[in-house]
Amino acid sequence: MISPGKSPFALAEKGQAVAQHYRLQTGSRTMNCFVESGVVTTPVGDWVVLQIKTNFTALFSENSKSSAVSKHIVFNQLLTNFSSKLITASVHELDGIIDQALAALGKFCDVDRCYLFEFSDDGECMSNTHEWVAAGVTPFIDELQNMPTSSLPFFISHISNGMFKVDDVTTLPEEAAAEKLVFEEERIFSILCVRIMVDDTIYGFIGCDIIGSPYSWNAFDIEYLRRIGEMLGNTLQSLRNRKALQKAQIDLLEANKQLERLANIDGLTGIANRRLFENTLQRDVERCEEQGLALSLLLIDVDLFKQFNDAYGHVAGDAALQKIADTLTNSCLGSDDLVARYGGEEFAVILPNTRLDELHAIAARIIRNVKFLDIPHRASDYDGKLTVSIGMASMELNPSRHDDAPQSKESALSLVQQADQALYQAKASGRNCAKL
Ligand code: GH3
Ligand code: MG
Ligand code: MG
Repeated sequence: MISPGKSPFALAEKGQAVAQHYRLQTGSRTMNCFVESGVVTTPVGDWVVLQIKTNFTALFSENSKSSAVSKHIVFNQLLTNFSSKLITASVHELDGIIDQALAALGKFCDVDRCYLFEFSDDGECMSNTHEWVAAGVTPFIDELQNMPTSSLPFFISHISNGMFKVDDVTTLPEEAAAEKLVFEEERIFSILCVRIMVDDTIYGFIGCDIIGSPYSWNAFDIEYLRRIGEMLGNTLQSLRNRKALQKAQIDLLEANKQLERLANIDGLTGIANRRLFENTLQRDVERCEEQGLALSLLLIDVDLFKQFNDAYGHVAGDAALQKIADTLTNSCLGSDDLVARYGGEEFAVILPNTRLDELHAIAARIIRNVKFLDIPHRASDYDGKLTVSIGMASMELNPSRHDDAPQSKESALSLVQQADQALYQAKASGRNCAKL
């Protein structure tokens, strides 16, 4: 509605330049137009001319059957265009395409505002997620966030049933007082909203507003809005499915990672198990061969452990193995060292890039630290404490060609055999010692 003094005619008559959007009332409907003034000079004087630019096809042939058919064709093209865009859209592109679809629908139906609302999961709130407004129309999206649904009960009861259609908001009944207030604030005279379903629940709604004058929504308007709403609903549903699938994939990958971790960990002590030991040794041999580095190995066996179990019980035996595993981990400080449970009461430590003198020092530290654990063992010859024996092995690996895998396998095996022999020597030498 324009006050008489502010009509483009009045302004132009007063000599003021006009260049702005208005809504033009024509019979049953209104439509957007742009009005611009100009001056034409003629021999008899100056004429003020008003140019009204609008969609003339819609203006003059609204009732003709052929124009309705061509309008449907245009709408179907629009729908096809957006559906194919939405099918291939990535999650990040979706918002932009929804904005474009609302703009296309808004222009096609010649309304002032076109929008999408989403309900919160509990249905307590609704938010305007996307909005298109015609030129000169104030956007309201920022004010329409997290609106309590309980504040608009009349609207909610209608939209829950599928549609909210009001040609002239001044005719709304008394129970729609809250809705009337909101529409007045936004200068909405006419409004049409249709529900969007996703996964058999109400996702939200899509709607159109006419500002400044009432409008009789016809069956085509409803049909167009409903079909765009269905298209968006299908897209949002497939997006939800895609997200659920992605989440299931992430969960599966995480579960596999967890299984992989468990497959490499010894259940009793929490250190690496035999499987991880063997894979790591093979990999380290190859790496040290490539780089011409030294590689050392310790095999550690708990002394007289059968007798320990017999004397103190299996539970105490398990606890002793856990403490020894912790001590080994704390005694080997190299970032590439790997402490593993080799089997039963035997442990192994892989020490890449460790020379012999360092290896002796590490083995001595382990023997000392295990004894410091102070685990009583009546059968032990060493102050009645639980001890370990260690077999040491070290090899200076020569740089080899990449495809020499059999050689690295032999190197790994030979390193373990050397350490095993040395461990046998340590046992034969009275235990609680390290041998090479
Ligand atoms: P040695 O000094 O010669 O190594 O004597 P030993 O008694 O330690 O060696 P032996 O191989 O005769 O016995 C190993 C014992 O370790 C027997 C087995 O019951 C015990 N053992 C192996 N694994 C576990 C385990 O997970 N928990 C407990 N509590 N005992 C274990
Ligand atoms: Mg043993
Ligand atoms: Mg033993």
